Amino acid sequence: MQILDGKKAAQAIQSELKIEVAELNVDGKKIPHLAAILVGNNGASETYVAAKVKACAEVGFKSTLIRLDADISEMKLLDAVENLNNDPDVDGILVQLPLPKHISDENVINAIDPDKDVDGFHPVNVGKMLQGMPTFVPATPHGIMLLLEHYKIETKGKHAVVVGRSNIVGRPMSVLLSSNTNPGNCTVTICHSQTKNIKEFCLQADIIVAALGKPEFVTADMVKEGAVVIDVGITRLEDSTRKSGYKLKGDVAFETVAPKCSWITPVPGGVGPMTIAALMKNTYRSCMMKN
Ligand code: NAP
Repeated sequence: MQILDGKKAAQAIQSELKIEVAELNVDGKKIPHLAAILVGNNGASETYVAAKVKACAEVGFKSTLIRLDADISEMKLLDAVENLNNDPDVDGILVQLPLPKHISDENVINAIDPDKDVDGFHPVNVGKMLQGMPTFVPATPHGIMLLLEHYKIETKGKHAVVVGRSNIVGRPMSVLLSSNTNPGNCTVTICHSQTKNIKEFCLQADIIVAALGKPEFVTADMVKEGAVVIDVGITRLEDSTRKSGYKLKGDVAFETVAPKCSWITPVPGGVGPMTIAALMKNTYRSCMMKN
């Protein structure tokens, strides 16, 4: 069993970006600028946004964090998005999800200029991705593809089972793995909460992507010998022995599943850092496209 080390792979990508940014600076060119909007003070969202802002600083991007109160109206949030759309210095906009219940994710995502939609959630970018056109690919599936590429994991002709069909992870993941690219060219099965006998599908998988948000859902009896297992899940579980008061759990029972795998991602240190690296790549791409 070998570890798909997302931390190492993300560092390699971010080091390359850092060199590119240094060159932009030397040439007096514009450096990439990511603007993030955080509504409210959800603990996990705070952590994710802080990690994105930190990554920007590490690669030399400019970043702006806009904090808005949890009770802000949808209209005011849309105004904030519009201001960023109209700001020529901003290359990438992300609105950290989930949003408070009184605000429609869909309305907010649709308000982002598709050319600045570095999260790749806007329908225009989703459509382009489906057609295999160059576009912003959602950061988590994009990061997983970069991880497979980094470790030269053979995907052609393999059977991939994706558990979860969300718009931000499972569904785009299934599109990317089935596309005529490398990595890609998998035969893909997508499972969700209404799928019967998930275990039987998983047992046929050469590659499992677990993205359902249920801690340790994938157990050793669901995984065939030699499978590649990608664990996207992150759930915070209370743990009073830790300073933070919680521990992170993936969707895979790592201890018992790992010995059966050829490759597996840890949680934390697997998909999480790759998501951020992919976001940095998307932001760099946006800046290059405009300048
Ligand atoms: P989500 O929107 O809640 O979607 C979960 C998906 O899993 C849904 O399609 C749901 O099916 C399916 N599902 C739920 N229970 C199931 C079950 N018992 N059996 C089979 N399928 C089941 O979640 P998400 O945003 O995709 O995120 C999934 C996990 O990844 C979460 O833990 C999240 O925190 C994590 N995540 C991590 C990163 C990262 O950077 N590492 C990024 C994004 C998300 P239905 O459609 O039928 O409801």
